[in-house]
Amino acid sequence: MATTDESYERMLQAFALTKNFLRQQVELGFDEVYSQANAKRPTSKEESATDPESLDDFYDRIRNCTKCHLSQTRTNFVFGSGSSKAELMLIGEAPGREEDLQGKPFVGAAGQLLDKMLAAIKFSREDVFIANILKCRPPENRDPRPEEIETCKVHLLEQIKLIHPKIILALGRISAQALLETKSSLGQLRGRFHDFSGIKLLVTYHPAALLRYQQYKRPAWEDLKLLRKEYERLRKSAG
Ligand code: URA
Repeated sequence: MATTDESYERMLQAFALTKNFLRQQVELGFDEVYSQANAKRPTSKEESATDPESLDDFYDRIRNCTKCHLSQTRTNFVFGSGSSKAELMLIGEAPGREEDLQGKPFVGAAGQLLDKMLAAIKFSREDVFIANILKCRPPENRDPRPEEIETCKVHLLEQIKLIHPKIILALGRISAQALLETKSSLGQLRGRFHDFSGIKLLVTYHPAALLRYQQYKRPAWEDLKLLRKEYERLRKSAG
């Protein structure tokens, strides 16, 4: 029979082994530990530790997301729409009523204006990819909460990684502040390109604000022209 000292020694060894094992798991990129009790194989793609192969694959993995309470009140998960090879990505705030019902971004009144804004600088919806900071509608169209943004933003970051656009257009203050991780006002953020992990990011007014305040239309048009000019410049420099 083991003495108290020997048992204590064995316990210390077991702790050291466990610590090493956990450190290795972290170094390998795992953020969960599977014990014998839950060592069954992942049942859905979402649980898989591998990177998504494509935007479609990523959609399959996250379309049933329940990471936050908005999943309980949504009608549809609004992944985003457009080209997976888009060089321009537009990012709004969150789905509204129409978007929640149809499962597509910007399909209400603000969306119709967005289509016109795109057409004015010679883009169509099929050329670009449109997404939101949140994938699910906040009840009563209230502003997204910081914890909802933090939870959902990982999905958007993965989309940006997969699409890898040349330019991102942030639509409105909430989108701009969430992407640039700042509390600066829209006025302070407009009018110049920001760096978003090597991607050019421009901020403009949200189309819903343009529907309400006529006086923003002129500066918004200046933003769009700036966007088109930079887009052309990047295309030319890419050869
Ligand atoms: N407003 C947004 O920010 N996103 C939408 O998809 C619709 C309205």
